[in-house]
Amino acid sequence: MLSFTYQILPSRVVFGAGCLGKLPEEIKRLGASKALVLSTREQRHSGLDLVERLGECAVGLYDRAVMHVPIETAQAAGEEAKRLGADCCVAIGGGSTTGLAKAIALVSDLPILAVPTTYAGSEMTPIWGLTEKGRKTTGRDPRVLPKTVLYDPCLTVTLPPMLSATSGMNSIAHCMEALYAQEANPIMSMVAEDAIRALAESLPVVVKEPGNLEARGRALYGAWLGGMALGSVGMALHHKLCHTLGGSYNLPHAETHTVVLPHTTAYNAPAAPEAMGRVARALGAESAAEGMYDLAAALGAPLSLAAIGMKAGDLDAAADLAVHNPYYNPRPITREGIRALLGNAFDGSRP
Ligand code: NAD
Repeated sequence: MLSFTYQILPSRVVFGAGCLGKLPEEIKRLGASKALVLSTREQRHSGLDLVERLGECAVGLYDRAVMHVPIETAQAAGEEAKRLGADCCVAIGGGSTTGLAKAIALVSDLPILAVPTTYAGSEMTPIWGLTEKGRKTTGRDPRVLPKTVLYDPCLTVTLPPMLSATSGMNSIAHCMEALYAQEANPIMSMVAEDAIRALAESLPVVVKEPGNLEARGRALYGAWLGGMALGSVGMALHHKLCHTLGGSYNLPHAETHTVVLPHTTAYNAPAAPEAMGRVARALGAESAAEGMYDLAAALGAPLSLAAIGMKAGDLDAAADLAVHNPYYNPRPITREGIRALLGNAFDGSRP
């Protein structure tokens, strides 16, 4: 019998090549007129471009966004927003920059307009993260959900091919887990399946021809849907495991998702046959786990934890950490099962 709860998240999405040109009118639509633009150092030039486009509606650029939102960065950015009298934040970049805007919104209620330039999907979620003394805490709060998101594929052509590949696999991971989530519902399952299809079709083209706007647009469309899935339902083993590995062993975010995904998929496959069928169909593969592995391989992405800096001697402790706090997963989590999964991911063997 069909039974579910579905809650829609309120955000406005403007999508299309060149839609960044609508930034000034979208800021006005928010009722704001003093935007603080946020970026990483690497994307400072993009931040400056936005400041220029906004003219009198911009109060400045804060270009210190870094991975995992250190609390010191969040506090400094928040103080800068206050000092400049900002009435909204415009985040241009990936999950790190959107994350900084969210940290500001969490303590100030400033509305966020996000301009994503990766496929991570943070702009569609009410999930915030903050790192203090090396420990990352995450939570959900409707105040941090960006009010408006401008998806302009032209801004993604500079995303390096390998980051495009792993960031896209990160989005596919959101979709995978949405399909067997505790809160899974028919709408989000449709969204997740279509996102996987869009990403699996476009990423191989994006990697070969980073300037192909058609493929970039389709990948960004998939990333939008992937972010929506992540924001709407809870995640499970895959995201918890990547969070543990990234936080405790300082492994790179998108690469970790890419390497681990085929193995968490294989682990959960016996307990989520319907979800796996949808994933395999969207990937055009025999099985979901094989399809994930073959896609990552075709993209030239890293395939083993060994290749992204994990040490074999840390696998036992990682398995202990991963089973420490119980959480929902379609298949029961055992220390033995997780240790075997980590061993396979370390070696990078095809599931
Ligand atoms: P990122 O934001 O850290 O970006 C990686 C690098 O790529 C940065 O130097 C950035 O400036 C650069 N970059 C981004 N777009 C570019 C472009 N188009 N051209 C050239 N360079 C570009 O990477 P990410 O994978 O988007 O985000 C990872 C972070 O986001 C992690 O901390 C993760 O935990 C978080 N995240 C949060 C959520 C959420 O819902 N809260 C969702 C997904 C990811």
